[in-house]
Formats: sequence, C-alpha cells, structure tokens
Amino acid sequence: MTVYNFSAGPGVLPAAVLDQIQTELKSFNSSQMSILEISHRSQQYIEMQQAAEDSLRDLMQIDDRYAVLFLHGGATLQFTSVPLNMTDHHHHVAYINSGHWAQKAMDAANKINGLAVDEVSKMTSQLPEIRPLNDMPLDYIHLTTNNTIEGTAYHQVPVNIGPLVADMSSNILAEPYDINQFDLVYAGAQKNIGPAGMAVVIVKRNRLTNHPKISDVMNYWLEDQKHSELNTPPVFSIYAAGLVFKWLKEFGGVPAIYQQNLAQANLLYDFIDNSTIFNNSVNVAERSLTNIVFSTGNDQLDHQFSSEANEQGLIGLAGHRLVGGMRASLYNAMPNAGVQALIKFMQQFELNHGGL
Ligand SMILES: *Cc1c(COP(=O)(O)O)cnc(C)c1O
Repeated sequence: MTVYNFSAGPGVLPAAVLDQIQTELKSFNSSQMSILEISHRSQQYIEMQQAAEDSLRDLMQIDDRYAVLFLHGGATLQFTSVPLNMTDHHHHVAYINSGHWAQKAMDAANKINGLAVDEVSKMTSQLPEIRPLNDMPLDYIHLTTNNTIEGTAYHQVPVNIGPLVADMSSNILAEPYDINQFDLVYAGAQKNIGPAGMAVVIVKRNRLTNHPKISDVMNYWLEDQKHSELNTPPVFSIYAAGLVFKWLKEFGGVPAIYQQNLAQANLLYDFIDNSTIFNNSVNVAERSLTNIVFSTGNDQLDHQFSSEANEQGLIGLAGHRLVGGMRASLYNAMPNAGVQALIKFMQQFELNHGGL
C-alpha cells in the first residue's frame, strides 16, 4: 500500500532527500564520518551550512542586507526572541490576530515587561485586514502569512504599511513572497523545510543591535556575528534543510513549486466545492494552499473519514483538535499522486455516505 502523509507537521519530506540522507548517513561527503558526528567547527561542516544558506538566499532572493539564521527552538522560541530583539525604538508592537498561532505569538509578546502590544482584529470567518490600530509609531506589525489550523492565508501583503514581521512557518517556500516587504521572517522547519526543532530567521541587519541582557542564543545580532554557531547549531536539521533547498532549486524554485501547489489545492478545493457532503467555508481568495480544511458537518462522520482514510494509507487527515473536521496539508513534497489518491477516496466516501 502506498502511504501519503497529509500531516500538518512534521510534514512530508521529498523522497529523494530521504534517500540521499540514508545513502550518506554513515559517511558524509566521503569523510567516513556521519554528519551527526562531524565537528561544527570543521571545514566540511562550515561549507555545508554555507551552501544551505546560499540555497535559501537563492530561493527567496535574499540579499546581504538580511541575515539568515538557523536557530534552535522552532517557531515558538522566536515568539519571544522576536519582540526581545526588535523593540528598541518604540516599545510598541501590533499583532494581527488571524488565528491560533498568531494568538500564541501575541501571548508571548504580552509576557515581556514594558512592551505595549496592540491586538489587531481577531479572525472571524474572514481574515482581518493588515493595518495598524492607530497612528502611534510601531516597532513592527506581526503577521502570520498562513494560518495552519484555520486553513487561511494572506497571499498578498500590502506595501508601505509599516515594518512587517511574519511567521511563515506553514507556507514559506510554498508561494512567492517578496522578502523586501519584511523586516523579519521566521519559520519553524518541520513543515516545508526539514526536521523539527529548528527555526529559520531572516532579518534585516539594520534592525539588529547587540542586547547584552538577552540570552546569547536568543540574541539575533550575536547569532549573526557568530554565523548561527554561537553554540552547537542544529546540525542535522541544517543539513537536511540544505538538501530540501537543493531539491527545490532543481524542481525550479518557488515559482515552479507554487504552480504545482496551486494546481493541487485547486483540484481539492474544486472537488470539495462540488461535493454533496464535504464543505470548506473559507473565502475563496483567502484559502490556504498548504493546509486545506474541510468537514462533513457531522463529527462522527468526520471521525470515520479520518480513520478509514488512515487504513487506506492516507495519513494525518484529522483536523486540529481545537477545530475538528479534516485537514489535508499539501506541503511542497506532496506528490500529485497523493492528492489524486485523496480525492478518489473522498469520492468513494461520498458515494457510501452521500445519502445521510
Ligand atoms: C507549527 C507552527 C508554529 C509552531 O512551530 P514550532 O516549531 O513547533 O514551535 C508556529 N507558527 C505557525 C504558523 C505554525 O504553523
């Protein structure tokens, strides 16, 4: 049975990348040592990390005005590191509360002493507009480009609205964004980049200053000076991410994968929109390409769907426990055949249960 992994995270990785990891796990680059045991101060390691960074810079067209950091702690640690590093001037920030993860990011900022945090409208059935609450100067406006749980996304980001900070954990490299629109972008690795536990932080160097009172490993300025090697970096995550970046470049980069993602998502949304039992209530223009939520409106039937799908090798389709229903995560490494298999299963399920 072919298995397709629709999990929201850790998510599917390219099969070719997993094969390469397996092939060279015991001897990285003919060294007779594993990447897991090579010193992070060795020339081989340093070159590998530099190549990973260069590939990401190529893929997202990131120039030297930006630092590219590979850090520990996933996206969640950045929820705290971002406001600690980026609020020197006004001690005032705004968060667009577009969903569960945006709320978490805002909660972390709210724990920081002396920082004024504005909440910009909560998500209802529509995504909130991206705008600051008032004319007070802000250190940044925080935006979650893709709401992993709600299945919504900002495909366009308005220009000249103020310094933007974006959590792109669930759609980085899945669709084109202009990095120059952001002062900082961060993403947990386990959705579209590689193994969990790492975050990628891309930040304008002119926003960074040394903060002697921030823990060194959370100090972006210092991590930039030390090339993300202030302590032992997440070496395996960086190595695997580098392979994923290389795979994506060979695929044709973000423009090419975006076309595939768009085609896959449209196929699934079209099926859902024409279905007699499945439904998605997100406004068409705001629908996520990476996390596609749907339900039958009947909890028991939803549950039955996810467990029968599981038995057929379609894994990880149960929606987040907070919202229920189903969610198909179509990250970059999802093959077209996976989406076709899912739709075929949904057609059969509809035939079996359409009369209910
Ligand atoms: C998954 C996710 C996170 C959390 O990532 P961790 O690496 O587990 O901390 C944060 N933000 C968004 C948008 C996510 O999808």
